[in-house]
Amino acid sequence: MIINTGTRAVLEPVPGLVDAQPLTHIEALELDEVPEHLFVIGGGYVGLELSQAMRRFGSKVTVIDRNDRLMHREDDDVTEALQNLFEDEGIDIVLNATAKRISGKSGQSVRIVIEQRGAEKTLEGSHLLVAAGRSPNTDGIGLELAGVELTDRGYIKVNERLQTTAPGVWAIGEVAGSPQFTHVSVDDFRVVYDSITGGKRVTTGRLVPFCLFTDPEFARVGLSEKEAKAQGIAYRLFKIPMEAVMRASTLAETRGFLKALVETGGDRILGFTGLGVGAGEVLSSVQIAMVAGLPYTALRDAILTHPTLVEGFIPLFSSVPSGSKAAGANN
Ligand SMILES: Cc1cc2nc3c(=O)[nH]c(=O)nc-3n(C[C@H](O)[C@H](O)[C@H](O)COP(=O)(O)OP(=O)(O)OC[C@H]3O[C@@H](n4cnc5c(N)ncnc54)[C@H](O)[C@@H]3O)c2cc1C
Repeated sequence: MIINTGTRAVLEPVPGLVDAQPLTHIEALELDEVPEHLFVIGGGYVGLELSQAMRRFGSKVTVIDRNDRLMHREDDDVTEALQNLFEDEGIDIVLNATAKRISGKSGQSVRIVIEQRGAEKTLEGSHLLVAAGRSPNTDGIGLELAGVELTDRGYIKVNERLQTTAPGVWAIGEVAGSPQFTHVSVDDFRVVYDSITGGKRVTTGRLVPFCLFTDPEFARVGLSEKEAKAQGIAYRLFKIPMEAVMRASTLAETRGFLKALVETGGDRILGFTGLGVGAGEVLSSVQIAMVAGLPYTALRDAILTHPTLVEGFIPLFSSVPSGSKAAGANN
């Protein structure tokens, strides 16, 4: 038996939220009207992708997030660039703000009282989309009867082979607490397949790439600077603006940057971040180099087709790295 029930959007216990019948990504993707003024609670993947799309359809859009940055776990240069991108498109961003009370109905008119730095403010709009986290679908399916235990956070408890606490029962994807991407759920299937057929595949040590499909995209594989610092891993930082990538000019989209973290004691690539046109595609080439254990110089010294986006690896890895960064060091 394989449990693969996924997660659903969390509706936090904010007074009035349920009665306001907010959109989640499911209803938002089925809308047959352009919201006049859409509030989006949550500045993560789902919130940002849908905000930009709705703005481009013609909505006025306000993103509300309780953190001090959009995509707050990412490096500061990423979150700043995303914020600039969104503000350039006329999307309002309200940070450090918590929704306290909501009245009205999404689709008609909605009023949200937010608390921001100790002060209350009232915002009024026409639609409300909630994209503030996910909750595992584990209720009401008798897991406890089968001896399938949950973690403290409510996800199904699994080991690195995705076996649950019940013999002959595996769990995969988001409900098993795996990173929330389709490609990870697919890889979880491969882990279980190996587990059943005598293979060795496990979930530990996986290199998980991901992409935020805004326009332009943000994509990352391996360590961010924040993660490297938190783990005390020293690195050399290579970074160039997208303006230095000739293909970005021919595509007339030069916003953003490429950056790579390379180990200090060798030439191994520790992480790569792209914020720019085609970043999700460019990412895979670095990922393959990382999987193959290639030094960064292999990308720097390759003859790469002109003008393609991956040609940008040559200026990126030929740039002068900023010195060794250790845990706690500032940019
Ligand atoms: C708006 C949005 C955009 C996204 N974009 C991307 C993207 O671009 N790239 C990416 O990699 N990831 C993306 N994701 C994340 C990706 O969709 C999920 O990580 C992925 O679908 C998780 O797969 P899963 O196998 O865990 O479960 P799911 O794909 O969620 O499938 C679970 C299925 O189980 C069903 N189910 C639940 N309970 C029961 C039950 N009791 N009985 C029977 N069936 C049940 C559900 O209806 C659902 O069909 C996005 C997510 C959202 C919300």
